[in-house]
Amino acid sequence: MPTLVYPFDAKLSATERMRLLGTKAAGLNEMTALGIPVPPGFTITSEVGRRYRETGRWPDELQEQVERALRSVEERTELRFGHPAAPLLVSVRSGAAVSMPGMMDSLLNVGLTERTIAALKSQSSHERFALDSYRRLLYMYGTIVRGIGADRFQQLLAEHKAAFGRIRMLDYELPLDALEALIEDYLALIENESGSPFPQDPRVQLWDAIGAVFASWENLRARRYRRMEGIAESVGTSCTIQAMVFGNTGPESGSGVAFTRNPSTGDKELYGEFLTDAQGEDVVAGIRTPAALTARQSPPGKEDRSLERLLPKSFEAIAEYCRTLETHFGDIQDVEFTVQNGTPFLLQTRSAKRTARAAVRAAVEMVHEGILERHEALLRVDPRALGQLVQAKLRDPGELAAEGILPIAVGLPASPGAASGRVVFDADDALRWAAEGQDVILVRQETSAEDIHGMKAAKGVVTAAGGMTSHAAVVARGLGKCCVVGCGALEVDYRTRQLKPHRSEVETQVIEEGDLLSIDGSTGKIYAGVLDVIASPTIAEFDELMEWADDVRRIRVYADADTPQSARAALSYGAEGVGLCRTEHLFFAAERLLAMRCVLLAEDAEQRADWLGRIERAQRDDFAEIFEAMQGRPVTIRLLDRPMQEFLRLEERDVDAIASALNLEAEEIRTRIRQRREGNPAFGHRGVRAGLTVLGLYDMQLRAMLWAARDCAHRGTPVDLEVSVPMVAYPSELEAIHLALERVRSEMFDRETDLVDIRLAAMVELPRACIVADQLARHTEVFAFGGNDLTQTTLGISRDDAGRFLPTYLNDLELVHSDPFAQLDETGVGELIELALTRARKVRPRLTAGLCGEQAADPAAIAFCERLGLDFVSCQLHALPGARLAAAQVRLRANK
Ligand code: PEP
Ligand code: MG
Repeated sequence: MPTLVYPFDAKLSATERMRLLGTKAAGLNEMTALGIPVPPGFTITSEVGRRYRETGRWPDELQEQVERALRSVEERTELRFGHPAAPLLVSVRSGAAVSMPGMMDSLLNVGLTERTIAALKSQSSHERFALDSYRRLLYMYGTIVRGIGADRFQQLLAEHKAAFGRIRMLDYELPLDALEALIEDYLALIENESGSPFPQDPRVQLWDAIGAVFASWENLRARRYRRMEGIAESVGTSCTIQAMVFGNTGPESGSGVAFTRNPSTGDKELYGEFLTDAQGEDVVAGIRTPAALTARQSPPGKEDRSLERLLPKSFEAIAEYCRTLETHFGDIQDVEFTVQNGTPFLLQTRSAKRTARAAVRAAVEMVHEGILERHEALLRVDPRALGQLVQAKLRDPGELAAEGILPIAVGLPASPGAASGRVVFDADDALRWAAEGQDVILVRQETSAEDIHGMKAAKGVVTAAGGMTSHAAVVARGLGKCCVVGCGALEVDYRTRQLKPHRSEVETQVIEEGDLLSIDGSTGKIYAGVLDVIASPTIAEFDELMEWADDVRRIRVYADADTPQSARAALSYGAEGVGLCRTEHLFFAAERLLAMRCVLLAEDAEQRADWLGRIERAQRDDFAEIFEAMQGRPVTIRLLDRPMQEFLRLEERDVDAIASALNLEAEEIRTRIRQRREGNPAFGHRGVRAGLTVLGLYDMQLRAMLWAARDCAHRGTPVDLEVSVPMVAYPSELEAIHLALERVRSEMFDRETDLVDIRLAAMVELPRACIVADQLARHTEVFAFGGNDLTQTTLGISRDDAGRFLPTYLNDLELVHSDPFAQLDETGVGELIELALTRARKVRPRLTAGLCGEQAADPAAIAFCERLGLDFVSCQLHALPGARLAAAQVRLRANK
């Protein structure tokens, strides 16, 4: 006969425990094995739940196994289920193999009936406890089993309280006769609403409760949570039946929650809350204000209300159990306990939800305390939260001052972090410029609700007016944006679009729209120009954990860094190199933008070459500075990818500037722009297609790279250079780039560029590229999969417009489980990547390959990369620490 039911003292391996019982019951099983007092009980496996959900029937042997297990609980407690004199009451709880706190249903006090309540009344010192337990059962049964709205019960409760003329009356203050009347009302509500009375047979209650608990796997709350957390539908819940213990039997009793370490700071102290004379749900429900566990954590004057002072023996015992559990699990535990007439019981232990700060501190400290091995500590931290522990900062103001770099103004440090970007004075401009890929700083006199979209799009916010609680300050803190407010010395002139000194005697330069500004939200200092932003961990343990992660991981973690400044910042975030330098971002300075527009609108080859020459000089300096920053670490520079159309979205004043630069009439410029307009620029004149058809464009970039690398080599700076080709569809495109490189090299006749070795990489971001990967691999030794474009071209969903329907698909219609632009669509896009690799490796077994794009930092995508043997990922700066840890974790899991 298959085993469908396991008592808490069943001997199971850790894997079996988790698979069959779920986390909650596995915890009870382990606590029982550790000799910690747990009320006896048993668990019906999640497999039974799955079958019940599928067929609507219980397996034949289940009833017999449940009865046998129940008898064993009766023996241990010396109580009997349904017995009028010594009734056993049980809780019936859900529990999946992955923690889903509060998402599924549980029932307490099952077994309480008109017959058994009398015994409970006489056993306890106060009658209220028995009546209150019954009331709770009716409420849970009515809402969970019969599906009656909770508000109907709450309404009745409120009416009974109102009868005493005290609106704020607490539940437990309700007089006994009112409580009895309320129970009558609850019974009537159940019968009237569901068409059958509340069952007075404890076994009917039990099976109803078991059915409801298994069914609660499918409730809306649970489904949403699973989707949010990426929990598989196949996991399922088990059902645990456990003898009730009561925390509401008098002053020597109570219920509480204990964390083995402080879950927000990570401090090594028992932390939690406790309510005397209360059942567990009262602590969670917030009806009464709980006391702290320890005197130290109590508010001044309330120390004597703490568990430590009130029930010191129970406190000591619970503290000891917590130590045992933390050492046993090697993790912060979140423990639920009940003290029944001076005897503590533990009802649940699970891995505690914690802040990123607490997670890292506890993991590192536990290694130092000998509780954990390093590899275990690495697995204890969620990589997705790691970015919160790193704050961007400008360099120390003193250091900057020593180099003659002084702030142009100092305001109030309203929201920490630092950023550089181009100044805009309007929220719509912020949004538009940011959509074009620019980093912007939104500067306003003050902000209001109409500016929020601009604040979101900006890297940082500055206001001339306002204090630490001004709109800008509050919103920026909420958005996690750096912000400086109250820069009284500066005046924002919206008319001239200038930021200038308030009083003429102050010698400060005028900042125009589009000028670069750097701000530090921790010091309130504002500087003209671009300053380096460096990552600074907010806790000491961070670097140590990162070092351990770097020791373990195989996948190389590179940064997306487009400017010399972001390349330097990337190093402080632990990047091993630059995996993607999107050169279009180097075109944003006004003079380069003008030059590029002139290239695209030029009259003839000579004019175009002239303007390309101007860009080349600037690019050469940019590239050299990036190589200098990276000091021989790998740098992948991508040839221009931006849709050409986007360079030609301009305002009237830009038209005049181009006309005068090209010596043409403004009308002629307008005509040329119209002629070049495209319906769908993202799939039009962009990437390698633009590079090969705007003659001289890629040659210019290749030349700039070669010169820059040669310049560095002359200065003794090593350069490891790769050039990647965007939007490749045809092998012939790669051949053409090879030829261009040869040509450029040979034109640089001094042969000095022979010093420079360039690898050619293909950005694989089109389905065709995946399909012809074997042919591409003949022309390149590196594939960089572009997750963003490969997703939009595989799904046929524009990455810029997905927001119009994807949230509805995700949240309301539930047609997809995750946003494919945030998490790699492994079934579709992933399959194409795998196909490409298989084909390419046949031709070039030692192909180097990696993943770029938004999805590259996602732990699931990194696990996918590990499975497929990819060599690197490249991601945005703030995501680097998480990616480093995720890469270590997948390695550790693979080794297991
Ligand atoms: C990509 O498509 O994934 C990629 C990295 O390139 P971009 O986002 O610049 O198109
Ligand atoms: Mg792309």
